[in-house]
Amino acid sequence: MKKILLINPWIYDFSAFDLWLKPIGLLYISSFLEKRGFRISYLDCLDRYHNALNEERSKSVNRKYGTGRFHAEVVEKPDTIKSIPRRFKRFGIPYSIVRKELRKEKDADVILITSVMTYWYQGVFEMIKLLRKEIPDAKIILGGIYPTLLTEHALKESGADVVIPGLDFYPLLRELGDNEEKGFMPEEFFNTFSPAYHLYERLPYVSMLTSLGCPFHCTYCVSNLLVKRFFTLSHEKILDEFDVYVKKLKVKDIAFCDDALLYNSEKHFLPLFEEVIKRKYSVRFHTPNGINARFITKDVAEILYKCNFKTIRIGLESCQGDFQKVTGGKVTNEEISIAVSNLAAAGIPKENIGIYIMAGREDEKIDDVIKTLRFVMHLGTKVFVSEYSPVPGSIDWKRVENFKRLDPIWQNNSIAFLKNGWTFEEMQKVKDIKNQINRTD
Ligand code: SF4
Repeated sequence: MKKILLINPWIYDFSAFDLWLKPIGLLYISSFLEKRGFRISYLDCLDRYHNALNEERSKSVNRKYGTGRFHAEVVEKPDTIKSIPRRFKRFGIPYSIVRKELRKEKDADVILITSVMTYWYQGVFEMIKLLRKEIPDAKIILGGIYPTLLTEHALKESGADVVIPGLDFYPLLRELGDNEEKGFMPEEFFNTFSPAYHLYERLPYVSMLTSLGCPFHCTYCVSNLLVKRFFTLSHEKILDEFDVYVKKLKVKDIAFCDDALLYNSEKHFLPLFEEVIKRKYSVRFHTPNGINARFITKDVAEILYKCNFKTIRIGLESCQGDFQKVTGGKVTNEEISIAVSNLAAAGIPKENIGIYIMAGREDEKIDDVIKTLRFVMHLGTKVFVSEYSPVPGSIDWKRVENFKRLDPIWQNNSIAFLKNGWTFEEMQKVKDIKNQINRTD
């Protein structure tokens, strides 16, 4: 049977942090291919606990709950962003170690590379160049979010032999010469397989999904484009996964990557986590993707408390009513206030609650953002600033003509605001106020 090497490449960016980042899609595909009988090998360049990294280096960058800073090497900036006065880095396992690891994989027949942010394409390209040198005979297949959103760019520029956008696994099987299996609908696929976390040598945390997609249509988001229809996974399967992660893999932290964890909570979140309480897992839960304040009722807040949710992030983006309406109406200020008081009443400390706000859009200026910061300050929670960048395929993307003409690297949120009429000084001022708010807590 063919040997398949699955790779999560480095991140090339100005900054990056391991906030429970795991290539979940690639890990699902790995399980699926293992079950089909393929020989599997795996390299996650963002694995901070990889055996090839020395112990001391890993320890020195760890933060709370399994998160931490990646190892980083300064690299030359691409020409188009040469004038940006910040250092550009390759995050993840050092290049020389990755090369040594790849030399152990010379017998791979096919290499699958995943990708996330469109503006991280450089990590993908550098990996493909290295693979051509080290494993020249293997077929290289690129998938993930970047080729799904920028298919033409990936086809033209990546150097991969095959580019597979989207969630349809049949083209992948065809490329692997497995014509028996006709593929799965996403709902069936994600209810059949689980991420192949056994491929990691050490694992302080896992990231997982209990649902895919989102029923909302925020103009700045591409959740609907990546997963056409919202669906939840079966409780039996999710609970089996919890059992494996907590009892077998002994992880202490589980992060949810769902886009709509609390949607339809009467049928999904509440009964699922009532069962979690009964099972008495010794584990902490986290919601780095943000949960929707509209659904944080008293019952939900109590379950979040009882189940030991330690990191609760909520998406607000802006306290301006016009902004909320125009961008999709996912939440109102009143809903945010009620959610925070329900969480506090349930016993969740306010320092465990963080509200995401957005800065750097062309239709919101710094004073608007400062109003939102003040709104969150009065709630008494922490605040996190997401620097806005338009995402290809989103509703917002239709009107950002300037970005369509630019290299995708300008979609990087650390610099995109410069093309939206914002300056570094303004963004720094927003961050300074944010830091002040988070400190006074
Ligand atoms: S609610 Fe969140 S995940 Fe859903 S469309 Fe809006 S931003 Fe995207």
